[in-house]
Amino acid sequence: MTEPLFRQDAYLKQVEAIVVRAEPRGIVLAATNFYPQGGGQPGDRGEIVLSDGSRIVILDTVYDADKRTILHVPAGEARLPAPDERVTARIDWDLRLGRMRAHTALHLLTAVLPYPVTGGSVGDGEGRLDFDSGDAALDKPEIARQLNALIARDAPVSTRWITDDELAANPGLVKTMSVKPPTGGGRVRLVEIQEIDLQPCGGTHVARTGEIGRAEVTQIEKKGKINRRVRIALTHSEP
Ligand SMILES: [Zn+2]
Repeated sequence: MTEPLFRQDAYLKQVEAIVVRAEPRGIVLAATNFYPQGGGQPGDRGEIVLSDGSRIVILDTVYDADKRTILHVPAGEARLPAPDERVTARIDWDLRLGRMRAHTALHLLTAVLPYPVTGGSVGDGEGRLDFDSGDAALDKPEIARQLNALIARDAPVSTRWITDDELAANPGLVKTMSVKPPTGGGRVRLVEIQEIDLQPCGGTHVARTGEIGRAEVTQIEKKGKINRRVRIALTHSEP
Protein backbone atom coordinates (compact mmCIF):
# COMPACT_ATOMS: atom_id res chain seq x y z
CA MET A 1 0.00 0.00 0.00
CA THR A 2 0.98 3.67 -0.33
CA GLU A 3 1.25 5.85 2.77
CA PRO A 4 -1.32 8.65 2.18
CA LEU A 5 0.56 11.72 3.46
CA PHE A 6 -2.21 14.09 2.24
CA ARG A 7 -4.45 12.63 4.93
CA GLN A 8 -2.22 13.93 7.73
CA ASP A 9 -1.36 17.21 6.02
CA ALA A 10 -3.29 18.52 3.02
CA TYR A 11 -0.78 21.35 2.60
CA LEU A 12 2.19 19.21 1.49
CA LYS A 13 3.06 20.78 -1.85
CA GLN A 14 6.02 18.45 -2.38
CA VAL A 15 7.60 15.47 -0.63
CA GLU A 16 10.66 13.30 -1.09
CA ALA A 17 9.65 9.70 -1.78
CA ILE A 18 11.03 6.32 -2.76
CA VAL A 19 9.82 4.58 -5.93
CA VAL A 20 8.27 1.16 -5.29
CA ARG A 21 7.59 0.35 -8.95
CA ALA A 22 6.92 2.21 -12.18
CA GLU A 23 4.79 1.16 -15.13
CA PRO A 24 3.18 3.17 -17.94
CA ARG A 25 -0.18 2.86 -16.15
CA GLY A 26 1.18 4.28 -12.93
CA ILE A 27 4.16 5.07 -10.74
CA VAL A 28 3.91 3.74 -7.18
CA LEU A 29 5.71 5.59 -4.38
CA ALA A 30 6.12 4.36 -0.80
CA ALA A 31 4.36 7.54 0.37
CA THR A 32 2.71 10.41 -1.47
CA ASN A 33 1.12 13.83 -1.15
CA PHE A 34 -0.93 13.21 -4.36
CA TYR A 35 -4.66 12.75 -3.66
CA PRO A 36 -6.16 9.84 -5.63
CA GLN A 37 -9.56 10.34 -7.25
CA GLY A 38 -12.32 9.40 -4.84
CA GLY A 39 -15.21 10.65 -2.73
CA GLY A 40 -16.22 13.05 -5.50
CA GLN A 41 -12.81 14.76 -5.56
CA PRO A 42 -10.62 14.41 -8.68
CA GLY A 43 -7.10 13.00 -8.58
CA ASP A 44 -4.16 15.37 -8.28
CA ARG A 45 -1.99 16.43 -11.16
CA GLY A 46 1.61 17.55 -10.88
CA GLU A 47 5.09 16.22 -11.52
CA ILE A 48 7.61 13.72 -10.23
CA VAL A 49 11.20 14.95 -10.38
CA LEU A 50 13.83 12.22 -10.76
CA SER A 51 17.27 12.17 -9.15
CA ASP A 52 18.87 13.41 -12.42
CA GLY A 53 16.54 16.41 -12.45
CA SER A 54 14.28 15.15 -15.25
CA ARG A 55 10.56 15.62 -14.76
CA ILE A 56 7.62 13.32 -15.33
CA VAL A 57 4.29 15.06 -15.82
CA ILE A 58 1.58 13.36 -13.78
CA LEU A 59 -1.82 13.64 -15.47
CA ASP A 60 -3.97 11.99 -12.81
CA THR A 61 -3.83 10.04 -9.54
CA VAL A 62 -5.98 6.98 -8.92
CA TYR A 63 -6.21 4.00 -6.60
CA ASP A 64 -5.10 0.64 -7.93
CA ALA A 65 -7.61 -2.23 -7.76
CA ASP A 66 -6.61 -2.99 -4.16
CA LYS A 67 -7.81 0.54 -3.11
CA ARG A 68 -4.65 0.94 -1.03
CA THR A 69 -1.95 1.44 -3.63
CA ILE A 70 -1.87 4.87 -5.28
CA LEU A 71 -0.96 5.17 -8.98
CA HIS A 72 0.57 8.40 -10.32
CA VAL A 73 -0.43 8.29 -13.98
CA PRO A 74 2.47 9.57 -16.14
CA ALA A 75 2.19 11.43 -19.45
CA GLY A 76 2.83 9.27 -22.53
CA GLU A 77 6.52 9.30 -23.36
CA ALA A 78 7.93 9.71 -19.89
CA ARG A 79 11.10 7.82 -18.94
CA LEU A 80 10.05 5.87 -15.89
CA PRO A 81 12.10 5.85 -12.69
CA ALA A 82 13.74 2.71 -11.30
CA PRO A 83 12.59 0.97 -8.12
CA ASP A 84 14.21 2.41 -4.98
CA GLU A 85 15.02 5.68 -6.78
CA ARG A 86 14.55 8.75 -4.60
CA VAL A 87 12.25 11.30 -6.26
CA THR A 88 10.40 14.50 -5.46
CA ALA A 89 6.61 14.39 -5.80
CA ARG A 90 5.18 17.86 -6.43
CA ILE A 91 1.46 18.50 -6.84
CA ASP A 92 -0.14 21.22 -8.96
CA TRP A 93 -0.77 23.32 -5.88
CA ASP A 94 -3.04 25.98 -7.36
CA LEU A 95 -5.31 23.27 -8.72
CA ARG A 96 -5.37 21.37 -5.43
CA LEU A 97 -5.96 24.47 -3.30
CA GLY A 98 -8.96 25.38 -5.49
CA ARG A 99 -10.34 21.90 -4.89
CA MET A 100 -9.66 22.06 -1.13
CA ARG A 101 -11.52 25.37 -0.93
CA ALA A 102 -14.46 24.09 -3.01
CA HIS A 103 -14.57 20.80 -1.08
CA THR A 104 -14.65 22.58 2.28
CA ALA A 105 -17.34 24.93 0.97
CA LEU A 106 -19.46 21.88 0.16
CA HIS A 107 -19.18 20.74 3.78
CA LEU A 108 -20.55 24.15 4.80
CA LEU A 109 -23.33 23.79 2.24
CA THR A 110 -24.52 20.64 4.03
CA ALA A 111 -24.83 22.75 7.18
CA VAL A 112 -26.87 25.41 5.34
CA LEU A 113 -29.05 22.74 3.71
CA PRO A 114 -29.53 20.02 6.35
CA TYR A 115 -31.01 17.42 3.98
CA PRO A 116 -29.75 13.96 2.99
CA VAL A 117 -27.03 14.23 0.34
CA THR A 118 -27.41 11.77 -2.54
CA GLY A 119 -24.39 12.72 -4.64
CA GLY A 120 -21.81 15.35 -5.34
CA SER A 121 -18.53 16.30 -6.90
CA VAL A 122 -15.68 18.71 -6.42
CA GLY A 123 -14.42 20.60 -9.46
CA ASP A 124 -11.78 23.25 -9.90
CA GLY A 125 -12.99 26.17 -7.83
CA GLU A 126 -16.54 24.88 -7.96
CA GLY A 127 -18.64 21.94 -6.88
CA ARG A 128 -22.12 20.53 -6.53
CA LEU A 129 -24.22 18.48 -4.14
CA ASP A 130 -27.53 16.73 -4.69
CA PHE A 131 -30.02 16.95 -1.82
CA ASP A 132 -33.24 15.13 -1.07
CA SER A 133 -34.77 18.41 0.06
CA GLY A 134 -38.42 17.47 -0.46
CA ASP A 135 -40.73 20.44 -0.90
CA ALA A 136 -38.38 22.94 0.73
CA ALA A 137 -38.03 26.16 -1.27
CA LEU A 138 -34.34 26.67 -2.06
CA ASP A 139 -33.45 30.30 -2.54
CA LYS A 140 -30.11 31.02 -4.24
CA PRO A 141 -29.31 34.42 -2.62
CA GLU A 142 -30.35 33.20 0.84
CA ILE A 143 -28.25 30.01 0.59
CA ALA A 144 -25.28 32.10 -0.61
CA ARG A 145 -25.75 34.55 2.26
CA GLN A 146 -25.71 31.76 4.86
CA LEU A 147 -22.79 30.01 3.17
CA ASN A 148 -20.67 33.17 3.17
CA ALA A 149 -21.61 33.85 6.78
CA LEU A 150 -20.19 30.43 7.73
CA ILE A 151 -17.05 31.08 5.65
CA ALA A 152 -16.60 34.43 7.41
CA ARG A 153 -16.57 32.72 10.82
CA ASP A 154 -13.09 31.44 9.86
CA ALA A 155 -13.83 28.24 11.78
CA PRO A 156 -10.97 25.74 12.16
CA VAL A 157 -11.21 22.45 10.25
CA SER A 158 -9.78 19.37 11.97
CA THR A 159 -9.76 15.61 11.55
CA ARG A 160 -9.86 12.68 13.93
CA TRP A 161 -10.43 8.95 13.72
CA ILE A 162 -13.20 6.90 15.31
CA THR A 163 -13.82 3.17 15.25
CA ASP A 164 -16.31 1.54 12.88
CA ASP A 165 -18.37 0.63 15.97
CA GLU A 166 -18.55 4.27 17.07
CA LEU A 167 -19.74 5.25 13.60
CA ALA A 168 -22.34 2.47 13.57
CA ALA A 169 -23.63 3.81 16.91
CA ASN A 170 -23.97 7.33 15.38
CA PRO A 171 -25.56 6.83 11.94
CA GLY A 172 -26.59 10.50 11.91
CA LEU A 173 -22.96 11.37 11.12
CA VAL A 174 -23.32 10.06 7.60
CA LYS A 175 -24.93 12.78 5.49
CA THR A 176 -23.88 11.44 2.15
CA MET A 177 -25.86 8.34 1.29
CA SER A 178 -24.22 7.79 -2.09
CA VAL A 179 -20.65 7.99 -0.80
CA LYS A 180 -20.40 5.59 2.10
CA PRO A 181 -17.40 6.37 4.27
CA PRO A 182 -14.62 3.81 4.01
CA THR A 183 -15.25 1.37 6.86
CA GLY A 184 -14.02 -2.13 7.51
CA GLY A 185 -10.45 -1.02 8.19
CA GLY A 186 -11.54 -0.69 11.81
CA ARG A 187 -11.58 3.09 11.82
CA VAL A 188 -13.18 6.02 10.04
CA ARG A 189 -11.86 9.52 9.50
CA LEU A 190 -14.09 12.33 10.74
CA VAL A 191 -13.77 15.89 9.50
CA GLU A 192 -14.99 18.55 11.90
CA ILE A 193 -15.61 22.20 11.11
CA GLN A 194 -15.85 23.67 14.57
CA GLU A 195 -19.48 24.13 15.67
CA ILE A 196 -20.67 23.85 12.05
CA ASP A 197 -20.21 20.37 10.58
CA LEU A 198 -19.01 16.89 11.51
CA GLN A 199 -18.97 14.02 9.03
CA PRO A 200 -16.83 11.15 7.78
CA CYS A 201 -14.68 12.21 4.83
CA GLY A 202 -11.41 11.12 3.25
CA GLY A 203 -10.84 14.22 1.12
CA THR A 204 -8.59 17.26 1.43
CA HIS A 205 -9.77 20.46 3.14
CA VAL A 206 -8.47 23.91 3.97
CA ALA A 207 -7.43 24.51 7.59
CA ARG A 208 -9.91 27.34 8.24
CA THR A 209 -13.15 28.26 6.50
CA GLY A 210 -11.87 31.80 5.87
CA GLU A 211 -9.48 30.34 3.27
CA ILE A 212 -12.46 29.53 1.07
CA GLY A 213 -12.83 33.20 0.22
CA ARG A 214 -16.28 33.94 -1.19
CA ALA A 215 -18.74 31.52 -2.74
CA GLU A 216 -21.83 31.97 -4.82
CA VAL A 217 -24.69 29.64 -5.63
CA THR A 218 -24.64 29.40 -9.42
CA GLN A 219 -27.50 26.99 -10.09
CA ILE A 220 -30.29 25.04 -8.42
CA GLU A 221 -31.58 22.29 -10.65
CA LYS A 222 -34.48 19.89 -10.19
CA LYS A 223 -33.13 16.34 -10.55
CA GLY A 224 -36.18 14.42 -9.36
CA LYS A 225 -39.43 14.77 -7.41
CA ILE A 226 -37.63 15.57 -4.16
CA ASN A 227 -34.03 15.91 -5.38
CA ARG A 228 -32.26 19.21 -6.06
CA ARG A 229 -28.77 19.77 -7.42
CA VAL A 230 -27.07 22.84 -5.94
CA ARG A 231 -23.97 24.19 -7.67
CA ILE A 232 -21.57 26.61 -6.04
CA ALA A 233 -18.52 28.46 -7.33
CA LEU A 234 -15.74 30.31 -5.59
CA THR A 235 -15.82 33.95 -6.63
CA HIS A 236 -12.84 35.28 -4.80
CA SER A 237 -9.31 34.08 -4.27
CA GLU A 238 -8.19 33.40 -0.72
CA PRO A 239 -7.52 36.44 1.43
ZN1 LIG B 1 -14.57 16.43 2.96
